[in-house]
Amino acid sequence: MADTVSDHTNSTVLDVDAVRRDFPILSETVYGKPLVFLDSGASAQKPRQVIDAMRHCMEHQYSNVHRGAHYLSAATTDAFEQARDRVARFLNAASPDEIIFTSNVTAAINLVAHAYGRAFLKAGDEVIVSEMEHHANIVPWQLLAEATGVVLRVAPVEDDGSFRIERFAELLNDRTRLVSITHCSNVLGTNVPAKEVARLAHDAGAKVLFDGAQAVVHGPVDVQYIDADFYGFTAHKLYGPSGLGVLYGKLDILNSMPPFLGGGDMIDKVSFKGSTFKEAPHRFEAGTPAIVEAIGLHAAINYVADIGFDAIRAHEAGLRDYAHERLSAIDGMRLIGTAPDKAAIISFLVDGLHPYDVAAVLDRQGVACRVGHHCAEPLMDRLGIIGTVRATLAMYNTKAEIDVLGEAIEKAKKMLA
Ligand SMILES: *Cc1c(COP(=O)(O)O)cnc(C)c1O
Repeated sequence: MADTVSDHTNSTVLDVDAVRRDFPILSETVYGKPLVFLDSGASAQKPRQVIDAMRHCMEHQYSNVHRGAHYLSAATTDAFEQARDRVARFLNAASPDEIIFTSNVTAAINLVAHAYGRAFLKAGDEVIVSEMEHHANIVPWQLLAEATGVVLRVAPVEDDGSFRIERFAELLNDRTRLVSITHCSNVLGTNVPAKEVARLAHDAGAKVLFDGAQAVVHGPVDVQYIDADFYGFTAHKLYGPSGLGVLYGKLDILNSMPPFLGGGDMIDKVSFKGSTFKEAPHRFEAGTPAIVEAIGLHAAINYVADIGFDAIRAHEAGLRDYAHERLSAIDGMRLIGTAPDKAAIISFLVDGLHPYDVAAVLDRQGVACRVGHHCAEPLMDRLGIIGTVRATLAMYNTKAEIDVLGEAIEKAKKMLA
């Protein structure tokens, strides 16, 4: 794959106008108004570098991987494996063999629940999640619990959305076998102290899985520094294509796990007497993978790396603080999730107004927000609310857009009063 060239220089200041020019969709209008896209937490928009890389593959280089004895197949296989390599460097994995391509982070977590959970966990063993998990990190464990008798325990979050490590630590005991927890909440923006969680989990003899769907977008992740046993993320939130996710796993753990899906590409030898399987990562990649998408993810990671997380973090922190200040000035505003150093994910409610009504008014002003329970119904129950409106602030968002959001909320208040 041609590495994407960028005119951004890696510095601590993000040139938001230059970034915005890379994302063609951001110059669209909706209802005759400039699009203000604040829904990147659900799925981020794609820079032309990603679009171009995927188009280039399909126009010049496309074939199936790992099979054909011909030029294109070899070239595509190379590009696909280079993508794996790039992901390994992105997460600082010790080896590209620790990177499994899945269809999304949901599939990554389900893979662990099946291949690790069913092989190594038994009735009475405990799995810890938190109150702020996405359904993708709840339901697979409930299914595992039904199948095996594993017990699910839930680490609390505070009223302001913060995560207290000492309350998490109270749940650990000698029955704890796995901690599966979000690295960053998609509703509250709360960051979980991953290294500390991993250390405590390991001290208790448990393995640890992080759902990094949000975390990888907002800051650098080093799986070896954290000492994660498993780490999952999804390409489409990282400015890459949908249909592709990543599961990182420590190599010895992966190679101790039985396959989850069986089929082509994951076998060593097949006969009707039985089959033997490849080692990781191919053992867990049955069937034709998301080839073009992997090449798109490679370009997305290069794009993010070119801009640099120092610049992205500084920009997003500025937006987060500005949004908190601007929205707090609105009478009746209730911000949901105000943990210190949270990611730029702003959930809110306006007194007396239904969040769906607010979101509908925002939409008409060109402002795209998420509304509802954000696939975190247990968290809504915990907070005693039906849902929130959520504005995610990404690297391409601006303070001017936050002003548009603020004015649209004020308009909603007038219209719906
Ligand atoms: C979006 C999200 C998921 C699910 O991502 P998919 O791509 O739908 O699998 C899981 N966890 C968190 C924290 C998310 O934000």
